[in-house]
Formats: sequence, C-alpha cells, structure tokens
Amino acid sequence: MGMLDCAIVGGGPAGLNAALVLGRSRRNVVLFDDNRARNGVTREAHGFVTRDGIPPSEFRRIAHEELARYPTVRVKNTRVNDVRKTGSAIQLTAADGVVYQARKVILATGLKEDLPSVPGIRSFYGTSLFSCPYCDGWERKDEPLVVISESQHAFDMAKTVYAWSRDLILCTNGYFVVSREERKQLEAKNIRLYEQKIRELVGVDGQLRKVVFEDGTEERRTGGFVVSVWSYPTDFGRALGCELNEHGGIATGDFGKTSVEGVFAAGDVSNIVPAQLVVAAASGSRAAIGINSELIEEDF
Ligand SMILES: Cc1cc2nc3c(=O)[nH]c(=O)nc-3n(C[C@H](O)[C@H](O)[C@H](O)COP(=O)(O)OP(=O)(O)OC[C@H]3O[C@@H](n4cnc5c(N)ncnc54)[C@H](O)[C@@H]3O)c2cc1C
Repeated sequence: MGMLDCAIVGGGPAGLNAALVLGRSRRNVVLFDDNRARNGVTREAHGFVTRDGIPPSEFRRIAHEELARYPTVRVKNTRVNDVRKTGSAIQLTAADGVVYQARKVILATGLKEDLPSVPGIRSFYGTSLFSCPYCDGWERKDEPLVVISESQHAFDMAKTVYAWSRDLILCTNGYFVVSREERKQLEAKNIRLYEQKIRELVGVDGQLRKVVFEDGTEERRTGGFVVSVWSYPTDFGRALGCELNEHGGIATGDFGKTSVEGVFAAGDVSNIVPAQLVVAAASGSRAAIGINSELIEEDF
C-alpha cells in the first residue's frame, strides 16, 4: 500500500467525522478502530441534535454507511499497536502486523475511566449510573439520586446534579474529600453526605434500587452519577513527543494540531471537558480541515 494522506487511529465520533470530511476532500485515508468505545455500555446517547437518544451502535452503523460512499476511505477493524515518525512521514503498525505509512495522522483514541471502587458498580454503569448529567440527567430528573465520588470533585458533581434532582445523597466511599464549607452548603440544600464505605449497590437488570452502607444503613435510590478517574488507553501522543495538557491528554492548538509536525488529535484524547459526542465529532471535522489545508499548502 502506498503512502496514505492520513491515518486516523480511533473510530468514535471524532475519528468518524474526520474520516468523513477527509473522504469528501478526496483524501486517501485509513481509519483504524478496535471498537471499544467508552459509551459502548450505554443504551442511548443524548444531546447530539438530530440523533438525541440514539443507541451508540446505531450511531456507528450510520457513520460507516456514510463513509462507504467515499472510495478513498477504508476502515480497518484492527488495533494500532505502534505509531512513530520516520522522517517526515508517520509509520503505523497494526495488530495484524501490517505496516502503514501516512503523511499525517489523527489520534482519536478516546479515554478510559476507572470507576469508584464500589462492589458491583460496573453492572449499573451506563444503565442507571452515569458520568455526565448533560448526557443522562434529563432521563433521571426528580428521581432519588446518588452521587458517588472518591475525589475532590464530589461537591461540584453534587452541586451540578442538584440542578436535575433535589432528592440527592452524596457518597464518598470512605474518603474525606468534602470541606467544612462544602458540608455546610450540602446541609443547606438537604443533600445528605455519607462518608462511610458503600457495602453494596442493589438493583435489577442494571437498574439501581438501593445503596447499602457498611453500617447497614440503606438508601432507596433509582440512579445517579459517578466521578471517575480518567486515563488514556494508548500512549501514542507521549511516544511521539507531543506536548500534553493538564489532564495528561494531548495538547492541541488550532485545528487539532499537536506540537509534533504532521500529528493531530481530536475527541476525548485531547479534550475531556466537555466530553460529548457532538464536541468530539466537531473536533474531528476541525482536525480533518486542518490536515487538508496543510496537504494543499504542501502540494499546490
Ligand atoms: C456511559 C457513558 C455515556 C455517555 N453518554 C453520552 C451521551 O449521552 N451524549 C454524549 O454526547 N456523550 C456521551 N458520552 C461521552 C461520549 O461517549 C464521548 O465523549 C465520545 O465518545 C468521545 O468520542 P471519541 O471519538 O473521542 O472517543 P471514543 O468514542 O471513545 O472512541 C475511541 C475509539 O478509538 C478506539 N481505539 C483506541 N485505541 C485504539 C488503537 N490503539 N487502535 C485502534 N482503535 C483504538 C476505541 O476502541 C474506540 O472505538 C458518554 C460516555 C459514557 C462513558
């Protein structure tokens, strides 16, 4: 295979939208994706206008159908194991051992989250426990909700979720991360604070019913929000020598350009707040336009 105009690593909304824009720009592109999207656990994605409530798998199906219209775009359902610079080009090694050369690369590998260490929490995540009120708050409005956070973001998350439901408890699962001033504010809003460890979450089919604490106290809750710790599934940005941002993601400037020539980043890997499908898709489009402009400058 000859030199690609662009390789895209990651086929979430960021990578998919980048592939669409580059395909429409007649660029020779390969999109690599091992299909382990962060929102794969959830049944419905919200807040993307014209697609509000769409199942994530359906979002991808439509995107792949649209990409299939553009003959210069190929999708490889494989993991990329290595990305490095060789002179002015970029070399990618896929999990099947095939090596690709590209003039530009977009890193759109998303992020990974570690949930609070509560037994069984995974079985509720994406069905009744979520991480983003903007994504899933509406469906849970006015319900008895729990916020679970082991970090200093506990208070801020409770304050935010309060805008969707005033029947709220905040659990820090054995950590002391709420200040005296924050405690007073929680009390004023009738948000009960539990600092003891959670013994178990009880529910059926991913739908939370109650939270049971170590001392046996039980709280009936039908859903809630958690604060996770974020990390990155791949280290390509660091390995390529890209400058990182304050979250440890890849720092980008205009049009998703990183500090390394020819390397662009889009989506959650470069921008965590806000982590949204529409924001990731938009940043993929920006990176694609940035790359196409560079290719035009280089070739005209
Ligand atoms: C439970 C949950 C619910 C959410 N709900 C919503 C919602 O309702 N609305 C909303 O707007 N947002 C929602 N989000 C956030 C949204 O899913 C993300 O912001 C968005 O998916 C980020 O897009 P991305 O393209 O950057 O990354 P991702 O969608 O995570 O895609 C990254 C892709 O890259 C692939 N990949 C990673 N490394 C490699 C590699 N080395 N080789 C090949 N492929 C690789 C992964 O397998 C994955 O498919 C939710 C997130 C979660 C966790």
